Amino acid sequence: MRELMASIEMAEAFSEVEVLDEEYSRLLGYPREVVLEGRARELADWARAWYVEHGRPWMYARQAASFAISGKAICIDETQFTSSRLQTTLEQAGAHSVILVAVGAGAEAEEEARRRWADEKPDEYFFLEMYASAVVERLTTMAGARLCDWAERRGMAVLPHYSPGYSEWDIAEQPRLLELLKRTRDEQFPSPVEIFETGMLRPKKTLLAVFGLTAHTDRLTRLTSLIPCERCSYGPCQYRRAPFRRSPRPAGEVITARPLSLNLNASYSVNRKALERWAKERLTLHMNDDGTVDAEFRYDGTTCTNMGRPLTFLYNVKLGPGTEGYPIRMQQCVPASGDEGHKLMCKYIEDENALMGAIGSEKPLAGEKLDAVLAWPRPPSVAGCYCDSTSREHKWGLVFETIHYSLVQKERELE
Ligand code: SF4
Repeated sequence: MRELMASIEMAEAFSEVEVLDEEYSRLLGYPREVVLEGRARELADWARAWYVEHGRPWMYARQAASFAISGKAICIDETQFTSSRLQTTLEQAGAHSVILVAVGAGAEAEEEARRRWADEKPDEYFFLEMYASAVVERLTTMAGARLCDWAERRGMAVLPHYSPGYSEWDIAEQPRLLELLKRTRDEQFPSPVEIFETGMLRPKKTLLAVFGLTAHTDRLTRLTSLIPCERCSYGPCQYRRAPFRRSPRPAGEVITARPLSLNLNASYSVNRKALERWAKERLTLHMNDDGTVDAEFRYDGTTCTNMGRPLTFLYNVKLGPGTEGYPIRMQQCVPASGDEGHKLMCKYIEDENALMGAIGSEKPLAGEKLDAVLAWPRPPSVAGCYCDSTSREHKWGLVFETIHYSLVQKERELE
């Protein structure tokens, strides 16, 4: 760790990260009071041992050289960002600076998880993916704790971190944040990170964040939303201002339960803003008393010929309960009642029965847990019609990702 004129920069690669059982269990989707046992215990231990041997976790942090808020723009090292939520926190706390942070679980676990999926070992895929997510959470906590320690010794305090993709911060700004983070000062950026146009990071088990820094520590005692302690599981902290909100599991209690199997930190092929809009505008979810879920998604597209005539299809999906990982039990895609546009698709005109037969009979991911869509390799397609199988698969992917996104929001609310 180096300091330049009371400014911090740190970079570190770790040989080990201590992931708490409780955190890992929560990410796996188990209720808080559950102690893993049986096959779940075996898989969790395997994933932990695999990661300890092969994982390459790391963190990097650098205090920005300049910071200002002007109108609705947060200006960090002369790069502008817009996030009303982050801005409010920074303003309320009277932040005078920000610290940019990146943490990552490395590419190794992701690659191994992908291999396990290809080898048709979805349970191993899932447990390893979740372990890597738990590593990222832990690294974020560790980075926060180090920054708190550094700040508190100088009469300052660190504010809750915020990241592109969180509510009120468009993920499209993530490339700019990565670019800033890579402008290191004296340290080397510890691990390669790339970014897609959508804002998705590769390796995906990477988190970029901004932590505000304030000298007005008196304000934090009045406004508890400005302190990160309630969400911070760092046990040995001597500066804690509020108790950690998650209550400990009763000692020794063993309850048999199955994981929810929904990846709460999913990386989607579609950007989150679009998923958020579709979840609001196109998707209807009905949560049944028996835990099953009925979903209806309305797809509005256009034909590829005939001057792009509008068409509408309805997707109906029945999912099993969350405790079983929301398995896809039924799926159907049909033209919306009264839709005439689909009759103008070129393949419909060529052979109506063949096209409608294909649309009706294709059931991708049938029987699989909803998380399967996250690892479903499908070629990109921009066609708005249903004429070829690639464009039909692409639409099923959009439907499942929107449902997944929407259910993750619901589960987060229950956390
Ligand atoms: S408990 Fe609070 S002060 Fe301590 S490391 Fe966590 S966030 Fe920082």
